[in-house]
Formats: sequence, structure tokens, C-alpha cells
Amino acid sequence: MYKEQNVFASSKITNEKHKVLAYLRGEEIFPITMEVDLTQKCTRACPGCPYQVSRRAGHTLEIPFLDRLFSILGNNTPGLILSGGEATCINHFPEAVSLAKEKGFKEIAVISNGGMTHLPRIQNALLENVTSIRFSLYDWQDREEKYFTDTLEKIRNLRNRIEKEGSKLEIGASILTRKEVTHKFHTVGKKAFDAGIHWLYFHPYCVDWETKSPIQADQTGVLEAIEEMKRVVPAGLNIQVPYERYSTEKLHFDKLHGSHFIIQVGADGINYAGPECKYEEEAALLDLNEYTDDDFLWHPERIEKINNLNSDNYTFIGTKHRPPMFSNYIQKLIDNNANQENDIQSHPEEFFYPYIV
Ligand code: SF4
Repeated sequence: MYKEQNVFASSKITNEKHKVLAYLRGEEIFPITMEVDLTQKCTRACPGCPYQVSRRAGHTLEIPFLDRLFSILGNNTPGLILSGGEATCINHFPEAVSLAKEKGFKEIAVISNGGMTHLPRIQNALLENVTSIRFSLYDWQDREEKYFTDTLEKIRNLRNRIEKEGSKLEIGASILTRKEVTHKFHTVGKKAFDAGIHWLYFHPYCVDWETKSPIQADQTGVLEAIEEMKRVVPAGLNIQVPYERYSTEKLHFDKLHGSHFIIQVGADGINYAGPECKYEEEAALLDLNEYTDDDFLWHPERIEKINNLNSDNYTFIGTKHRPPMFSNYIQKLIDNNANQENDIQSHPEEFFYPYIV
């Protein structure tokens, strides 16, 4: 294994260098990763949930829709992320992941709050067809609540089955960061490692979702606390930090280029500009309930909307999520006239899950 592998950097899209070059030449490309909300339903009701209002409709994507979508993208888009809501709480979760594999996705990642991962049929589906599951850790901020300890137990049971049955599934856990909770990182992270995670991922907690201009919560001291944690934990623990997301560098892009490299499909069947703006009307690119021909990615309406979103009018830019980060990266290549093979450095060996961008 390459010793400094990362889960995220904006340059991760160069793992598919031919797609970056094709895009820079103005050609049509398939994304590297598709993120799909299987359902808006959730087993939790977090007070800071970004989708609190939009989730009320309770949409779920059914198998015929997924079949159509996966058939178009499976052989051309290597990475798939299944999210929600809580992806594991729908009955057809096992069918959905098995269909995804059958249709050709090379890496399948699931984001879960723990949900129904204690059920054998959900575990079987994960062990058989999924590359990684990332547990979002909740309810540890003030004191460790039952939800947190139950999630640790779910991780422990799943890891036991991985070891016993020789599955390739890997388990991650994520901690949302903000200034007020830095003192908890070490204890919470250590408990997750003790329970059996393969890697731990820190990422910024965002606020002000209701304003439609969300921003990161105060992250003062966060990176220092993570560095301190890294210093004292046993060597070799895989702790991931998307440093660029914490940087104060202003992002700049003339178009939301990133939406060509990662696409977001909501549980309402609509393709949105990114995970951070799903269910927002102004960020809807194309309604796939109305149009899912093989060429939907290049539907003129979709392209026009992406072209009209830029760093001055994209109000979700303050969260520093993936589409604006990738857009900023691509814009720099465009501004530097980088469009030849040698202009772009590509280091797939530096990344975990090269197709999950
Ligand atoms: S687990 Fe996620 S989707 Fe569910 S309520 Fe909490 S923040 Fe919202």
C-alpha cells in the first residue's frame, strides 16, 4: 500500500486523466462518480440536518428507476456512492447494491448513520457487493448517547463478519468537525478504531442551510486537534483529513465544471448540481423522471444550467464541497492552458478508492 494514501483531494479527479483531458478539449464525458440518494427516509432526525425540510416528502428510488440509471452509467462511471436519508433502511437495499455491481460499477460506497446495518440481510449485501461503508458518528458531542454506542456495536459486528468471512468490505467512520468539539476527537475516534473501523475521516460541519448560503461552522483549532490526535495514537491508524476543504483559499470557477465529474441524483429522481445543494430547486439540473435517455448527461437544459453556475452565483460554495472544489481545480487547468497529457500530473496510487471522488 502507498504510505500516504488519501481519501480526498481536488486533484483526485486526475485518476481518470483521460476524462479530464477530454473535458478540457470540450468533449462529452461520463462522470467518475455518481452519488445517489436511495431514499429521503431516515432513522434519525438530527437538528442540524441539511435536508430537514426537503426530506419531508419521503421519496425513495425504486428498482426500475435504478435499473435505468445504472444501465446508462454502470459501464462508464466507475464509482457509485449510495446515500440518503438512510440508504440501509429501505427494503430493497440488497437488490439495489447487487444491481449496481451487476451493471458494472467498480467501487460502491455506502454512507450510513448505522441505520439497519445490524440486520443480517443488510450485512450480507454489504459484505458481498460493497467496497466501503462510512458510518457517520452522531450523539457523542455532549455525552455519549445510546445511538453512538449502538453504532459502535454495529461496527464491531460488521468487522467481525468481515474477518470471519473474508469479505473485502472496508469500514470507515466520519466525524463532523467544529471548534466546540475538538476536545472529543481523540476519545471518539479511538472508540471507533477499537470497534473495528479501517479508517477515520474528519470533515467540516456546515451551518445556515436554511439561508441557502450554507457555510462551514467555525473550524478554529480543528486541524491542530487532529494533528495532536495523530501524534498520540498508535502509529499506522488511518486518519484522513481533507485539508483543502479546511483551507481559506477562495474558490474560483467560470462554470461548475465539477458537476461533470461527480453527479448527484436525489431520491426524487432529480439530478442536482452537487450533494451540498440537493433538493434545492435552483440547483436542479434535470428531472430524470421526465428524461432518462442514454444521453441525459448532455441534455441541453442540464449543460446550460451547469454553464450558468459560477463562483459568483453558486451560493453553496461556502461549504467547500466536492463540485466547487473540483471546479476550482479544473478552472486552474483551463487558466493555465493545460490540456496536454504532460500538463496534468496523475497519481492514482496516492488515493484510497480512486473512483470514489
Ligand atoms: S442522519 Fe443525516 S439525513 Fe438523517 S437526519 Fe441526520 S443529518 Fe439528516
